[in-house]
Amino acid sequence: MAVHNHYNFSGRHAAITGGAAGIGLAIATRLVEGGATVSLWDRDKQALETAQAALGAQHARVEQVDVSDEASVQSAADATAKAAGAIDILVNSAGITGPNTSVWEYPVAEWDRVMRVNLRGPFLCCRAIAPYMRSKNYGRIVNIASVAGKEGNPNASAYSASKAAVIALTKSLGKELAKTGITVNCVTPAAVRTAIFDQMTQEHIDYMLSKIPMNRFGKTEEIAALVAWLCSEDCSFSTGATFDISGGRATY
Ligand code: NAD
Repeated sequence: MAVHNHYNFSGRHAAITGGAAGIGLAIATRLVEGGATVSLWDRDKQALETAQAALGAQHARVEQVDVSDEASVQSAADATAKAAGAIDILVNSAGITGPNTSVWEYPVAEWDRVMRVNLRGPFLCCRAIAPYMRSKNYGRIVNIASVAGKEGNPNASAYSASKAAVIALTKSLGKELAKTGITVNCVTPAAVRTAIFDQMTQEHIDYMLSKIPMNRFGKTEEIAALVAWLCSEDCSFSTGATFDISGGRATY
């Protein structure tokens, strides 16, 4: 998809978790096109190297991070702020689906794993980066939640619950920072074909498509276009808000 509009991100630095692949990488690409420099935070070293080569090392630095690990996140935040001078933008895109099964068959260890990555991860990243943004009185935080967090997909309870919690985390932090120059918003995409589909059953993928009135999957570039606006200075009177991008699935 051609990019038609640009926001001016020159002089801005963005930390993007899950930035080595899928939606996170599409967001990184869009921000770099607008003149930003980015730090890609991901646990996948090889994917980080490939993404950095695609974006250009002058535009993208990388941090191998496990977002569910407090020490790993703190050291990545400190290293990013030191290298870039500031962290103006944080996008929390790292996430996993967990298994597709009923609540009564859901392995407890898998539930904990999904919550650690999808909820504890964004919490730790917001917690570590908010002080850097507060010191400059400027920031844009965007959390990638999901329509599953609004609707509760069957056979995806941990995923749905973790994304509902990310929506609430966004609301809380948005209010905490409302009198600063920092905004905090989230987006709730319906299904977008990325490598994350490899973690789901075909039955679940079919279910998600059947719920989308546009009768197609979203594109990573479409998510990046909305997130780019949320990361821009133009987005100045929205905070703690949830932006739907679901091909008509959720009309609230
Ligand atoms: P993806 O699998 O293509 O990319 C996710 C990235 O996160 C990968 O590079 C992976 O290595 C990284 N990651 C996973 N766990 C991590 C951890 N503990 N620490 C650091 N990095 C980690 O998936 P995607 O489709 O790009 O999804 C991105 C986000 O969008 C996720 O939060 C997902 O829940 C959300 N989302 C996706 C869809 C969809 O259908 N693709 C729909 C709604 C919401």
